Amino acid sequence: MHRVIVPDIFPHSVTAFFTAKDPGSNIDDISSMTGICRTHIYLPVQKHTDRVLVLNALREPSIADAVVTNERGILIGVQAADCVPLLLYDPGKKVAAAIHAGWRGTASSIVRKTIDVMMNRFSCEPGDIMVAIGPSIRGCCYAVGPDVIEAIAHANGNGSYCMIRQGRSCIDLAIANRDQALCMNIPESNIWVSRDCTFCNPERYFSYRYAKGSTGRQAAFIAVR
Ligand SMILES: [Zn+2]
Repeated sequence: MHRVIVPDIFPHSVTAFFTAKDPGSNIDDISSMTGICRTHIYLPVQKHTDRVLVLNALREPSIADAVVTNERGILIGVQAADCVPLLLYDPGKKVAAAIHAGWRGTASSIVRKTIDVMMNRFSCEPGDIMVAIGPSIRGCCYAVGPDVIEAIAHANGNGSYCMIRQGRSCIDLAIANRDQALCMNIPESNIWVSRDCTFCNPERYFSYRYAKGSTGRQAAFIAVR
């Protein structure tokens, strides 16, 4: 059974959803579910970069971890399995973005950079941008070393994204990325955060850490109608 999570903050002018294991990132299933031809579905080649790709027209996938477009009818997406998938939308300007933020992307401020592109290239105002943050590994389960904490602190400063659990330092990447959106002046009421931790729900979600590396990917998709 296909299961998708539809954040309730987006208006009807956009198709936006997060997948769980089924359909995951299966393009044929996504295409039949949405009625969008697979040639109009765009997934970048993700490499944990901070590269934000502006998609003006359909093209071959290139390396990027965020995609921004105002082209109607193109379903842009990202894949994740513990990393944070984010969907952004400005209903007035009809500009959509999909972001993949793991710890490296978070440390290189990919959310801030994507919002910058929306503002500079498409004249979006932060107060108009809606943000949905999908299922990811949360602070309950994401123990990390001092190098990761230092890298994220360099981008974010101190914050509630960092916590001690059972004597280990843990990071909540969803909160760290929410904080980056807040810091770009996106109102808190514009931000939706999934409560689900991928590691806590391995029957429902792919979790890279739970599966010790060998796993599929769920996804986040958005299209301007
Ligand atoms: Zn958890």
